[in-house]
Amino acid sequence: MKAHDGMYIDGAWRDADGRDAIDVVNPADGQVIGQVPAGTALDVDTAVRAARAALPGWSATPPAERAARLSALRDVLVARKDEIAETITAELGSPLKFSQAVHAAAPIAVASSYAELAATYAFEEKVGNSVVHHEPIGVVGAITPWNYPLHQIVAKVAPALAAGCTIVLKPAEDTPLTAQLFAEAVHEAGVPAGVFNLVTGLGPVAGQALAEHPGVDLVSFTGSTAVGRRIGAAAGAAVKRVALELGGKSANVILPSADLAKAVNVGVANVMSNSGQTCSAWTRMLVHRDQYDEAVALAAEAAAKYGDRIGPLVNAKQQERVRGYIEKGVAEGARLVAGGPEAPREEGCYVSPTVFADVTEDMTIAQEEIFGPVLSILRYDDEEEALRIANGTVYGLAGAVWAGDEAEAVAFARRMDTGQVDINGGRFNPLAPFGGYKQSGVGRELGLHGLTEYLQTKSLQF
Ligand code: NAP
Ligand code: MG
Repeated sequence: MKAHDGMYIDGAWRDADGRDAIDVVNPADGQVIGQVPAGTALDVDTAVRAARAALPGWSATPPAERAARLSALRDVLVARKDEIAETITAELGSPLKFSQAVHAAAPIAVASSYAELAATYAFEEKVGNSVVHHEPIGVVGAITPWNYPLHQIVAKVAPALAAGCTIVLKPAEDTPLTAQLFAEAVHEAGVPAGVFNLVTGLGPVAGQALAEHPGVDLVSFTGSTAVGRRIGAAAGAAVKRVALELGGKSANVILPSADLAKAVNVGVANVMSNSGQTCSAWTRMLVHRDQYDEAVALAAEAAAKYGDRIGPLVNAKQQERVRGYIEKGVAEGARLVAGGPEAPREEGCYVSPTVFADVTEDMTIAQEEIFGPVLSILRYDDEEEALRIANGTVYGLAGAVWAGDEAEAVAFARRMDTGQVDINGGRFNPLAPFGGYKQSGVGRELGLHGLTEYLQTKSLQF
């Protein structure tokens, strides 16, 4: 893998302030595949200054020209999609087919949607005797995780560019090569110097410096609830805008009238996808008591088939964390019907696709985000109990409802405290607002709602 040993700041790769470097490791075999510089507070400051200097020019650039840069960016992502997929497979460990179909393809769809929105959005609107201007919020500090390395970057950078904001990105330390590739793509797309800047580095150093920098107007963070809480508190104290996309413990509610086999199979696939490292994964399956045993058998069978098809977790720490949760599930009395805490291979950060039955609401594995290939199946007596269990966590990011009749599923979904619900296996929509109720976050990403996060209004009265 090609790696830059500098930071992309003000339109060029520049020497980092310090000499510390981060090893990039392939979690499938433990090999070091590259090294990137560990940014310091000074690197962050240099990048924020560049973003601030570029703001007047970019925010005054006509939306049609911003749209043209986004189209060009989309085209570069298309042209380099194989390289992107290979890089993500190397540093995240996801199987190449999944990297191609999801990790490389989703950002193309999102970049495309913002090219169109930038060109068509009404940045000026008439309300009575006022003209309301939708103006960029300013300099954006974007902090992203490793689980969907490019998607999480594009879901912030594309709407910010469309809105006329300038950006400093601090990507996850585990997947910085994807971020460097993205910086190359931005450069190739002809985005002016300083509009997008990249500082690789560690969360508590570069990430924290970016979140706390007074020159940043909006902090957009995706990651753990623990870090998000701190970033939100710091932003509140500084009276600056913040967007937080945090964890989830989403419910897959299978109503008695549903096609049980389909609901269970799609549900298992949803959890095992990306080795369970998906914030919106349906990690709790809720099944009526009369169908419970059948659902458990189907899920165990489906999970067993995933044995060799899922990749490793991103690093040894996450592998240990997930195995710890599996041990906790056993200790708290849940019944293991597939997988378990033993590592399935000696090499690499693998965890077996794992399914727990007899999970009750009070168990840790029914409440906390595990972020691994682990499904908990819970039993309900009636619809009211299903709803209470579905809504019974601190999270509310996503979910699913299955029923024989679409209207029945919709009626249930409307009562769920969560930001997205897939009805009878509805497909991912890159234009639908994505974000959480309750402690799953603040704000929305993607589509029109994702764009408005990066805008503020100014009303002129006549
Ligand atoms: P994390 O530490 O919250 O990482 C997210 C991003 O925040 C990374 O870029 C990280 O940098 C940075 N960061 C860390 N500490 C920071 C600080 N004090 N100030 C500013 N930025 C900081 O998450 P993680 O440790 O990678 O994963 C832990 C758990 O978080 C997972 O098991 C999962 O439950 C959850 N998670 C959720 C999502 C999601 O999509 N909602 C994504 C990833 C993880 P470093 O990379 O250097 O740490
Ligand atoms: Mg971390």
